[in-house]
Amino acid sequence: MEVKVAWRWLLIGGLPLAAVVAWLPPAAQEAAYAVLAGIGSGAAFVRTRSGPGRPLPWLLLALGLAAGALCSAAWSVCFLIGAPPSGFSVIDAVYFTMYGLIASAICVHSNGRGSALAGIAEAGVVTFTGVLLGWFLLYDPLINDPGNWGTADAALAYPLLDLLLICAVVRLFAVLDRIATANVLVLCAVVVQSIADTVYFVSVHQGGTWSGPGASAAGWVLFFALLAAAIMHPDVPEPGRGRAASGWRAGVLYTALVVVNPIVTAVAFLTDIRRRELDTLDVVLPMAVVAAVGVLLVVRLAYTQHRLVRLALRDELTGLPNRVDLELRLAGAPLGILLVLDLDDFKHVNDSLGHPAGDALLSSVADRLRDTVGGRDWLGRLGGDEFAILSAGAGTELCDRVLAVLRSPIEVQGHRLHVTGSIGVRPILGAADAAGALVDADLALYAAKDAGKDRAVVFEATLRDAQQRRVTTVNRLRAALGTDEITVHYQPIVSLSPGRVEAVEALVRWFPPGGDPIPPDAFVPAAEDSGLIVPLGERVLREACTAAAPWHRRHGTSVTVNVSPRQLREPDFADVVRRALLDSGLPAAALILEITEGVLIGPDITHLGELRRDGVRVAVDDFGTGYSSLAYLRDLPIDILKIDRSFLRSAPGEPGAQALIKAIVDMARSLGLATVAEGVETAAQAGMLRDLGCDKGQGWHYGRPAPADRVTALLGAAVVPGLPVESR
Ligand code: C2E
Ligand code: MG
Ligand code: MG
Repeated sequence: MEVKVAWRWLLIGGLPLAAVVAWLPPAAQEAAYAVLAGIGSGAAFVRTRSGPGRPLPWLLLALGLAAGALCSAAWSVCFLIGAPPSGFSVIDAVYFTMYGLIASAICVHSNGRGSALAGIAEAGVVTFTGVLLGWFLLYDPLINDPGNWGTADAALAYPLLDLLLICAVVRLFAVLDRIATANVLVLCAVVVQSIADTVYFVSVHQGGTWSGPGASAAGWVLFFALLAAAIMHPDVPEPGRGRAASGWRAGVLYTALVVVNPIVTAVAFLTDIRRRELDTLDVVLPMAVVAAVGVLLVVRLAYTQHRLVRLALRDELTGLPNRVDLELRLAGAPLGILLVLDLDDFKHVNDSLGHPAGDALLSSVADRLRDTVGGRDWLGRLGGDEFAILSAGAGTELCDRVLAVLRSPIEVQGHRLHVTGSIGVRPILGAADAAGALVDADLALYAAKDAGKDRAVVFEATLRDAQQRRVTTVNRLRAALGTDEITVHYQPIVSLSPGRVEAVEALVRWFPPGGDPIPPDAFVPAAEDSGLIVPLGERVLREACTAAAPWHRRHGTSVTVNVSPRQLREPDFADVVRRALLDSGLPAAALILEITEGVLIGPDITHLGELRRDGVRVAVDDFGTGYSSLAYLRDLPIDILKIDRSFLRSAPGEPGAQALIKAIVDMARSLGLATVAEGVETAAQAGMLRDLGCDKGQGWHYGRPAPADRVTALLGAAVVPGLPVESR
């Protein structure tokens, strides 16, 4: 039988069985309950493995139903041997356990991990009010009816236990986001069961026999059948989705409960007083209920408070303490060292594998750090991919351990990731010293990243000055952006045979009024960090296209523009480039974009593919200094390799350097890529490059970067080299 539709067969079989069960001999009736309860128990056991959700609620259900099956089987045996127990027996006690377990399962099911107590407290509030209602509306009148309260029979306990179940279900409905079919089946089961138990109770106290009226037997069959069907039903709500009594439904429920309690008590008091029937229990019970409800509400509030404190001081993803917790600790003025750790290039993981993979990586890193750091030191997550350690021990040794433990590959969703981290270290000397510790540690962290990542840097006061300079630079650059302090110079790129200026590279220049020119290496990194590179890069691009358009018309010259990774991450980068081309009249084929190797590993290359289809070419700048694998180059949207000038530095004197250049040139040719050698300073280098088959060269030997008007003059003259020394 198809498992998915098994629940239907249970109901189809259960209904006729319910109709006829009362006419079966008692032993057969009990056997029927036992079989149905057993089926439900088995199904719940399966769910402990297959879910949904965590196993605990399913286990409680399975145990509860197993207890029910056991009791019915025992009864069946008792009937077979003709010795049914009379009055309260062990079997009843086990039955009571069934109710308790099922009610707990329902409470726990709707709550997330760790909030089971809150669920039970909430259900308890509902239950106690239910007990009060049941007492005044049903049991009190029955008991007061003379002659009814004969034997102290267990029969009374069952309807009260049903109230427990009903209340658990009512509360469940109040907190669920979505009511699933299985929830409805459970509700039906519980309602049917409480009708059956009540009918049984009434009939027993009116002097009936054990088996009670047929309605009870039918109800018990339906109870187990409905419950088992609910467990097997495919539309089971995912557990833990209940919002622990928030939302309007829960609000209405609890307000109603709080109001109903005194109203019912008052009405009952007044009625009983008028009838002169008020006895001790009538007073003690409602007061006990009020006390119990009060205690449960306090428990519930305490849970909420506990949770809020946890949320405020903990990071949900890793379970580690968070930044607020660290700040509290720092305020306590510890002695020791503070380490701030940031994963290198974490953004690539997030972008290329998705956020769930990023989260999984962070969890694994947190686990590794937990193992490394040990219990005595404080470990927390400050947010994003930033962690912190507050240790009383020695710094260098801890840094080495942390860096080492990160370096071994981490398996995330089937990918083997090679992760490294950078660490900023800040010793803490006492109370007054702790205040700025986090900021200082961050500065040291930046320094570690700047120095090449995968290392630790200890904070020094000079870093503060460096940071100050950075901030000043960014502010001044922002102001300079709209002025002619920022301009572009161009350096020729020359074909090696025959010598001809094929292209010019646009290089940004900053001439602050009255000061020395600031080289790009001094402000481009700060512009990248601050995001200012986006408007700056656009400005250079537009200026370069405008300058190059007439050069291209007259001499066929191309222009190459440096593009920072930050610019490629802008969603409208391709549009910015197209607009610059359109406005300047430069054809796409005359534009080359220079990017660094690192970019090629990230997801930021979609723009490049798009622009290449328009005819724009892409060059890899400073090739050989990054970490792209050579095999990788084949699949990338690139046209040109610019061999970093470090390869030329010792060439042609050193044979090894020459061999490396030759290898790159040969590989590039086999991949259909053109080569440009950077940093050609001498005629000897130029000759060697020609011999090695390199296509083009760029460097002081052919000309330094120069303003646009000089380039116009150079292109007009036929001879290469030489431009004069760079000047404004
Ligand atoms: P790059 O893209 O590798 O540019 C080549 C650098 O080498 C330029 O430095 C150039 O002046 C220098 N150079 C050229 N020939 C020689 C030579 O024969 N010997 C030596 N030693 N150096 C030579 P520059 O202009 O200081 O630019 C430095 C870096 O700043 C550039 O390296 C590039 O990465 C970045 N940059 C410059 N302009 C821009 C821009 O507009 N946007 C972006 N994102 N980055 C830029
Ligand atoms: Mg460049
Ligand atoms: Mg370069």
